[in-house]
Amino acid sequence: MTVTTDPAPIWEALIGQPDAVKNLTKAVADAELIRRGEPGPGMTHAWLITGPPGSGRSTAATAFASALVCPLNGCGQCQVCRMAPVGGHPDVHIVTPSGLSYGVEDARELVRLSSLAPIDSPWRVIVVEDADRLTVQAFDSLLKSLEEPTPHTVWVLCAPSVEDVLPTIISRTRHLSLRTPTTSDVRDLLISTYSVDPAMAAFAARASQGHIGRARGLALEESSRLRRQSDLRTVFNLRDVPSCVSAAGALVASATAAANTRSDSLDTGEDEQLKASFGIEQGTRVTGTSKKMVDAAKKQLLATQKTRRKRMIRDEVDRSLVDLLGLYRDVLLIQLGSDLELINQEMRPQLEQLATRGSAADSTRILETIEYTRKSVGANTPPLLAVEALMITIKDPRLAPGHMNTQ
Ligand SMILES: [Zn+2]
Repeated sequence: MTVTTDPAPIWEALIGQPDAVKNLTKAVADAELIRRGEPGPGMTHAWLITGPPGSGRSTAATAFASALVCPLNGCGQCQVCRMAPVGGHPDVHIVTPSGLSYGVEDARELVRLSSLAPIDSPWRVIVVEDADRLTVQAFDSLLKSLEEPTPHTVWVLCAPSVEDVLPTIISRTRHLSLRTPTTSDVRDLLISTYSVDPAMAAFAARASQGHIGRARGLALEESSRLRRQSDLRTVFNLRDVPSCVSAAGALVASATAAANTRSDSLDTGEDEQLKASFGIEQGTRVTGTSKKMVDAAKKQLLATQKTRRKRMIRDEVDRSLVDLLGLYRDVLLIQLGSDLELINQEMRPQLEQLATRGSAADSTRILETIEYTRKSVGANTPPLLAVEALMITIKDPRLAPGHMNTQ
């Protein structure tokens, strides 16, 4: 059998990442050599894939996992290639933190999985999404397995950037970095894969600023477009403190509603799963010792769901803040007389007007404050409080406290 290094069809989902595709294709080919007892320097047992949100970290990780377990190295067509990326293959485990972080218990379960021999393929692949959310204790439990994995186990850790993960992870993994896909990469994907009309695809690609999942949402869901539009409009009507407070309230409320919709459907699925795992049928009453066990499991699930809901609200608020970041980037470009394409091209007349209300220095101050607000929301400041302070700065950037040295 010859080992080819041409990209296999499975990589088509990973758009705008030619270097990553090249390295991972080589890794899959070399994995084949290693199986035959030959040297395969392109392959290793622990990987770290980093890239900005929406760049395709999990797509890269799951495509890699699929290619390793597919008999044709990632044909993209077979049952294995279809099932592995969605967690439907016995040798591919895709794990995400259910709460805010991975705890020691989660890590121990991963270590147990990693010690098992593969069932249906040459490799057992463990994809750890959001590896930046591994606590130090959880990582300590993983350390030995990462350093000396069982011969057929491959770890693929994903994180936004190397700065987000513990240095001990970096030193024990091979690093692969993804870039933000270009607007034209995203536009082409929307047209070819989701049959989106070209004008809509161009809008969604620009508005998403290279975030593929976000672009897909904007192109396919009217509710996403409407929410974005209303978030962007808030900054045009900031006259006084009460209007800032109400704008912040509206932005956080719509982010919360979007997060709740997503959380509700996840919670319902998990509640059903919990009942099924205890064999509880609709309408039956559980008593005695089994009731205690069910209650304990329910309590634990409830706590996890509550933390996840909070995290999702913060993620949705962050999404709105990224949109505002794009808007003020546009305003700054206009103020500087740049001819770069605007993210919000369709709002050019309104943005030009907004640009006359302040100076480039004001816009820079606003951009800094939006970044600062994203960080504080990420670090657990109540979103409403943080966004109210932001709106007040947007209304009057010159009165804002400096944030340059606070982080
Ligand atoms: Zn296949």
